[in-house]
Amino acid sequence: MHGLMMDTPLLISDLIRHADRHHGATEIVSQRVESPLLDGSAPRHRYTYHDAHARAQRLANALASLGIGASDRVATLAWNGFRHFELYYAVSGVGAVIHTINPRLFAEQIIYIANHAEDRALFVDLTFVPLIEKIAASLTTVKHIIVMTDRAHMPATQLPNVLCFEDLIEAADAHFGWPQMDEHMASSLCYTSGTTGNPKGVLYSHRSTLLHAFAAALPDALNLSARDVILPVVPMFHVNAWGLPYSCALTGAKLVFPGQHLDGRSLHTLFETEQVTMSAGVPTVWLGLLNYMQENKLRFSSLRAVVIGGSACPPAMLNAFQDGFGVQVIHAWGMTEMSPLGTAATFKAKHVQADAKTRQAVQSKQGRVLFGVDMKIVDSDGNTLPNDGQAFGDLHVKGPWVTQTYFKNEGGDPLRDGWFPTGDVATIDADGYMQITDRSKDVIKSGGEWISSIDLENIAVAHPDIAEAAVIGIAHPKWDERPIVVAVKKPNASVTREALLAFFEGKVAKWWLPDDVVFVEQLPHTATGKLSKLTLRGQFKDYTLPA
Ligand code: AMP
Repeated sequence: MHGLMMDTPLLISDLIRHADRHHGATEIVSQRVESPLLDGSAPRHRYTYHDAHARAQRLANALASLGIGASDRVATLAWNGFRHFELYYAVSGVGAVIHTINPRLFAEQIIYIANHAEDRALFVDLTFVPLIEKIAASLTTVKHIIVMTDRAHMPATQLPNVLCFEDLIEAADAHFGWPQMDEHMASSLCYTSGTTGNPKGVLYSHRSTLLHAFAAALPDALNLSARDVILPVVPMFHVNAWGLPYSCALTGAKLVFPGQHLDGRSLHTLFETEQVTMSAGVPTVWLGLLNYMQENKLRFSSLRAVVIGGSACPPAMLNAFQDGFGVQVIHAWGMTEMSPLGTAATFKAKHVQADAKTRQAVQSKQGRVLFGVDMKIVDSDGNTLPNDGQAFGDLHVKGPWVTQTYFKNEGGDPLRDGWFPTGDVATIDADGYMQITDRSKDVIKSGGEWISSIDLENIAVAHPDIAEAAVIGIAHPKWDERPIVVAVKKPNASVTREALLAFFEGKVAKWWLPDDVVFVEQLPHTATGKLSKLTLRGQFKDYTLPA
């Protein structure tokens, strides 16, 4: 017997309609990409969910006038801002697919993914016009390039058929009714760059996006409400800004978009003037903010929590936020293939009264699964390993917002017995808290055992003189591989190689102790702000371990 409830599809357009109806006066504030402005307008754009919905509907009509129809791909190269937000809703709302391209990729990668996605239109922020001028001739499917600005700020460009975003909106009819459609229709597309082969597209659906938005908003996940002011530092071109543009509309939280300036000073100013309560980003961004705050002896007056993910949150960063600034850290883990949220490290009841050390250990883990995601760890033969917090193996996941296959079936069937192999190596403890010990390709194999590069990096950055550190395995004739630390010192720091090596003693098993420390000016990062161990290993290919 079927239940007798309404069969209402889960559609992205319903999020913005809901936000307009029930939180219509709530603000969306954006640091303009055009600033500093020559025409006297304010550097910050402010409007409401009601205004955003009205403009998204005009934009939907404008897309139709450009010939964009169901399932067409519409690309963006843009920072976090109100026009990008409108595109999120207008493009998916008409049944087309928003393809958010990471502008930090190499030009050849951008050309590859835009052509692979067969993008028909490309919306670009002013910042990226010079980039597009260089590659436009190679974008074989793009029919329209729209610059995300107003007439006054349109750049002088030789690009053919360039349109102005505000002209399009102005010319479009204000009346629009969001179409009803199958909730399984594709809504957005993100490419993920593996270390080998071409980038692969992850194609989200309306259903997967809404279920993820519900789960992400829950108290033991990102804990969002209509009383919050959320500043997504994580870019809208990196896995849909971790779903925040959707979850904020769902809960009616005020949104603050930071534009292109993500340095400590710019962020702190925005946090304070907009009274931000919660923010989300990768550790590199928080490092910049914390340094700026400490150097200038500043405080936060409204910030209650930060979500840290994308790479492991070092315990030193956890303590700096919580003990130094009274800001709660929510350590979270996920990946492009998971929309992205999989786990969040929030407490269970028994941890509330636990001692500081226990609580820190819980929060340093990547956390418990959100309802909807299932996970397990397996050995190299695919046997499930125990959840004892000790055994570590390849982490596999499944769930309604986990990818089943890549766009155009690139790379073949990624699943193993119906589970998605994440490429991460992890432990899971008896309470269900998962801890990443490494990417499977970064784990250091020494004498038949595994050494976690993340554990060693966490120790290195806990040293007061170290700003950033990466640990990589170097080939060794007897042990297979041995770990070395490649570290960046803080300005004016005096720590020596010997002192840093001594800092590891007593913190890990003897055979985990790094064989060497090499100080560098900077470490290589990927387009999403993670340490690029691939590049680093390349840089150290001729390095030899001390005898
Ligand atoms: P991406 O698809 O670019 O978001 O990268 C996903 C990968 O980032 C994951 O598979 C992990 O290796 C890594 N990652 C994400 N969050 C964390 C975290 N909290 N701790 C450690 N690694 C993380």
